[in-house]
Amino acid sequence: MPYHDDNFGEWEGMEPSDPDFEDNVRFYKRVQKESVLKTCDGCGRKVRLRPDYAYCNACADMNY
Ligand SMILES: [Zn+2]
Repeated sequence: MPYHDDNFGEWEGMEPSDPDFEDNVRFYKRVQKESVLKTCDGCGRKVRLRPDYAYCNACADMNY
């Protein structure tokens, strides 16, 4: 199953063979739970982001 979201885009280390798999999945679920529906300051799309994030992953990739 792919792990992808608007905060970080594609998540790495999400294969069961990864030594940090369980921690990574736990963190992913926490990020999903903390995320709220908001409008990205960059592209104006409705995205699910953590409350302290203003830009979606696609915009962050372009700017940094
Ligand atoms: Zn955006």
